[in-house]
Amino acid sequence: MSTIQLSSKLPNVGTTIFTVMSALANEHKAVNLGQGFPDYPMSSELIALVNDAMKNNFNQYPPMPGWMPLREAIAEKASFLYGAEINPDTEITITPGGTYAIYSAFTTILHPGDEVIVFEPAYDSYIPNIEINGAKAVTVDLVFPDYHIDWQAVKKAVTSKTKAIIINSPHNPTGSVIGEKDIEELRKIVTGTNIFIISDEVYEHLIFDQIPHQSILRYPDLVERSFVCFSFGKTYNCTGWKMGYCIASPSLTKEFRKVHQFNAFTCHTPTQVALAAFLKNKEAYLSLSSTMQEKRDHFISLMQQTRFNLQHSSGSYFICGTYENISDEADKEFAIRLTKEAGVATIPVSAFYQNGKDDKVLRFCFSKKKETLEAAVEKLVHY
Ligand code: GLN
Repeated sequence: MSTIQLSSKLPNVGTTIFTVMSALANEHKAVNLGQGFPDYPMSSELIALVNDAMKNNFNQYPPMPGWMPLREAIAEKASFLYGAEINPDTEITITPGGTYAIYSAFTTILHPGDEVIVFEPAYDSYIPNIEINGAKAVTVDLVFPDYHIDWQAVKKAVTSKTKAIIINSPHNPTGSVIGEKDIEELRKIVTGTNIFIISDEVYEHLIFDQIPHQSILRYPDLVERSFVCFSFGKTYNCTGWKMGYCIASPSLTKEFRKVHQFNAFTCHTPTQVALAAFLKNKEAYLSLSSTMQEKRDHFISLMQQTRFNLQHSSGSYFICGTYENISDEADKEFAIRLTKEAGVATIPVSAFYQNGKDDKVLRFCFSKKKETLEAAVEKLVHY
């Protein structure tokens, strides 16, 4: 037996809930409404473009910050959607996924002892990303049940050690979104300080009911202190590609790239060549909100036959629901039992709180084929 000792840098971290619930779903052949990924095919045109790029010998390293035509296409899109003037040379870095962009942003700015304000429930990578950098997450609860931000609570959480605030809209896991008022409140808190903003906008195109996405890119005064992180996986139904990007001012990007260049260094070339061409097709990303809204609405109407009470979702792949008419179990126990007995996997929302706060809420992922949603609800009806 080996005697080597390792002192864990993340002693309180277990396996991510997405992996746990997907494994349980597979084991019990349950319908998987847990982990957020589409179960329908991505664009065959985009696949063909990657194939072409490979055949055309785009198979060696691209530049460290990413394939230039892709960065140019992203800058064009940011201008078209948000009126932002982004320099593709100095302000955009292509990353292997949105989560990696967020991790790199934290690593770029955090020193031991720094504090970061994190809204909970929070996507489960944020706090470990902060802690592995020797910094501390200061959590502020979103207000249950609509999960809006309590800005008074944010003000109280700010200290001289606050290095950053991480925001996420549309929000995973709750589907809440921020509005212009939230941006104004955020501005009041950060203006004149050295507080950075990390903005997780991976669900930028998954926003419903004609609500405009409040990208930080709309606000030049906020962009100067922000790392704005995006995901191609969510936009083009290819979460397994792990492709994303980070937009930040030239001085922040310079530091971000120091971290990135000695980690992934760069990203898969053929995919970048393909995405550069595919991004020109505006319809492909503009149509996403209505496609996903239809799925949300279909799921909501199906779920009316069950004893679950769904909350509101204005964006993302997700909608949350309570189960007080079915059980008073803790959400983790209930989610496990639901997977085993009913054959439907979900995500217990307490997994997104550092202290395990349990409002007895489950997260359902509706970015699934109609048949998948129907098969899931058929099982839930009897539960
Ligand atoms: N973002 C996806 C979700 O929230 C999963 C990502 C992952 O499994 N790491 O379900």
